[in-house]
Amino acid sequence: MGTDCLFCRIVAGEIPATIVRETDRTLAFRDIDPKAPIHVLVIPKEHYADVATLALDDQELAGELLATAAAVAEEEGLDADGFRLMFNTGAHGGQEVFHVHAHLLGGAPLGPMLCR
Ligand code: AMP
Ligand code: ZN
Repeated sequence: MGTDCLFCRIVAGEIPATIVRETDRTLAFRDIDPKAPIHVLVIPKEHYADVATLALDDQELAGELLATAAAVAEEEGLDADGFRLMFNTGAHGGQEVFHVHAHLLGGAPLGPMLCR
C-alpha cells in the first residue's frame, strides 16, 4: 500500500507519531485527536484495510495485535478500571483510515457504547 496510506507512512517513519509500544509486527501510538484521557491506536505494520480482512487472512497477526493492545492497556494503567477496544469498520462503522487499527480508550468512565 505504502505512500497512499497514512498509517503505512507512520510505520515507515515518514509521518511522526508518539509511539508507545512496538513489536516486530505491530505498532501502538497515541491518537492525534484523543477522544478519552488515554487514546492509543494499535496497528499491524502490514497493511490490511480492516479487522475482518486481517482476521480472515492472518489469525496469528490478529492475535498479536490484541496482545499489543493488552500490553499497552497494562502499561497505561488501564487494567484495573477497564478500557474499551474498538475497531471501526467500513462506512457504517465510521472508519476514516483504511489501515486496520484498534482504538484503545480509557482513563475515565467512557459512557454508553453508542449514542442513540
Ligand atoms: P477511524 O475513524 O476509526 O478510522 O479512526 C481514525 C483515527 O485516526 C482517528 O481517531 C484520528 O484522530 C486518528 N488519526 C488521524 N491521523 C492521525 C495521525 N497522524 N496520528 C495519529 N492519529 C491519527
Ligand atoms: Zn496502510
